[in-house]
Amino acid sequence: MTPERILVVEDEPAIAQAVEYALEAEGFHVDAIDDGAEALAAARDLDYDLLVLDLMLPGLSGVEICRRLRLDSAVPIVMLTAKDAELDRVLGLEIGADDYVTKPFSMAELVARIRALLRRRELDSREGGMRLRVGDLEIDLAKHQAYVGDERACDLHISNIRRKLERDPANPERLVTVRGAGYKLQPV
Ligand code: CA
Repeated sequence: MTPERILVVEDEPAIAQAVEYALEAEGFHVDAIDDGAEALAAARDLDYDLLVLDLMLPGLSGVEICRRLRLDSAVPIVMLTAKDAELDRVLGLEIGADDYVTKPFSMAELVARIRALLRRRELDSREGGMRLRVGDLEIDLAKHQAYVGDERACDLHISNIRRKLERDPANPERLVTVRGAGYKLQPV
């Protein structure tokens, strides 16, 4: 079996080396890059199984790299963050990271999170690759199901959108419910 390939993007040499060493000891093939723009190019051109991405980088921030990659890639991304206050942004749907560790972190913790993401990706691909992941939102295309932390949040979003789109939000004509599937946007 060929080793899974991980790209480590971190500009602090001590952390980059420690992560690289720990992941190689776990049997992964590791490339390390310390510049944001270079990292984005490498992540796009080379077929990595997972990215470990520092938030603060020269050239291009980890957030920006993540956002741009998510336009056309579902590669699992673990963010390295400096403080808890940034977590909401990092894990927000607009950014699309899959997980994070907060510095200072233990290598055991990072390895455990990486293994969990790779395992999940493996399971998803066995199920036919019909699942999309965007941050903590998981969409099963075959089953027409979305997995969100809070179902009420989905209802709330739909009713907010209907309030903006519909003449009568109580009797929707544009954003209609499709039983057993979800919602459909249609012209009036
Ligand atoms: Ca940094």
